[in-house]
Amino acid sequence: MQRLFLLGAISALLGLTNLFAADAPPAIIALKAARLFDGKSKTLLPNGVVLIQGNTIAAAGSNVAIPDKAQIIDLGDATLSPGFMDAHTHVTFDFSGNYNELRLRMLDENVSQLALEMIPNARVTLEAGFTSVRDLGSSFPNSHDFPDVSLRNAINAGVIPGPRMLVATHGIGATGGHFDGTNGFRDMLFGAEPDWSNGIADGPDAIRKAVRFEVKNGADVIKAAVSGGVLSLADEVDVPQLTSAEMVALVDESHRLRKKVAVHCHGDEAAREAINAGVDSIEHGSFLKSDTLQLMKQKGTYLTPTLMASEWVMAKIGQYPPAIQAKGKAATEARSEMFRNALKIGVKISFGTDAAVFPHGMNAKEFVLMTGLGMKPIDALLSATSVDAELFGVASKLGTLEKGKLADVIAMRGDPTADITATERVFFVMKDGKIVKNDVKP
Ligand SMILES: [Zn+2]
Repeated sequence: MQRLFLLGAISALLGLTNLFAADAPPAIIALKAARLFDGKSKTLLPNGVVLIQGNTIAAAGSNVAIPDKAQIIDLGDATLSPGFMDAHTHVTFDFSGNYNELRLRMLDENVSQLALEMIPNARVTLEAGFTSVRDLGSSFPNSHDFPDVSLRNAINAGVIPGPRMLVATHGIGATGGHFDGTNGFRDMLFGAEPDWSNGIADGPDAIRKAVRFEVKNGADVIKAAVSGGVLSLADEVDVPQLTSAEMVALVDESHRLRKKVAVHCHGDEAAREAINAGVDSIEHGSFLKSDTLQLMKQKGTYLTPTLMASEWVMAKIGQYPPAIQAKGKAATEARSEMFRNALKIGVKISFGTDAAVFPHGMNAKEFVLMTGLGMKPIDALLSATSVDAELFGVASKLGTLEKGKLADVIAMRGDPTADITATERVFFVMKDGKIVKNDVKP
């Protein structure tokens, strides 16, 4: 009883302190750097200043007047930018090592162990300047856990450092398709066929049930595989894996629940059906033909090219089983022409990497691949900020350096429009007004 009283007294006291704290406005931080990319303009501004109060941007621009009481952080010959976003990650996994060893580990390790191992993935992503990500699919064979939801919640609660996450829970797909975790294993090795509760659904009603189940369990975005994939053993990379009716059900149910739909798709036929069904983004898109890209432009569908994924797989292609080698080569050969066509046609290109296929924290290497295929550096930067913010549905809060937006601000050495690899040298990261990395040493 006495203890309870004491607790009550302490919390009353804390409440009182908070009350006093609320009277004083939070201190102002002024970030200064030689240049500023505001996330919306086609050029960088000189003499960049961002004023931050609490977790919000109070002002941003060129030569903004700095209030006397502000704490000034001068970042020197650097470029300030909105925090980068990555529309396609799997923070809960790391597939970058040897394929067969990883497959065994998935069977050996408990989900709780895998969950601990994902903590550094979140940290290095944030420290690389990626303050927001979509996590597009997280499931382990024969497990019903939702590790991505737990990771997102732990980050939001301040328990571990990491980016803001929009999570997809289990990828939805067909029996034997790219997301069927038992694909490539002996029949009934896991004692049961996966079902809608693992994301595996056949027929429009089962697809709706899978969407509802995932939203119930914390999904922010819905991910589905409408065509085959590279890193799954028993399917062809470009075949359609959902019917048109299934895709219509997928999009309708997701949009009713106000969730966007991202679909894994390499094949052209499946992409056309998915775009017509109204999906929000096509992930990968390796074999998309010009007509299909035109349809995307017309419908406003985003393309998330994930060039880093194919780059990484191709760099060590000899380590994969023969079936995957053939699929990886075919998809990579097709994707460069597809990307150039998408640029020419003016398809909205979102920045997304498929981090997990390569080690987390290397996300910014996507910039040099995009510009290498003809994208202007400034457009690549826009893609990783305001374009992604729009795709994520968070453009009113994030994606640009403007008064009233949440204070996710990064700085990189040099000028990324002159040398895009500057994006790989992020040395200052602020998320939600809090400095999470500040390495001002030259
Ligand atoms: Zn992926």
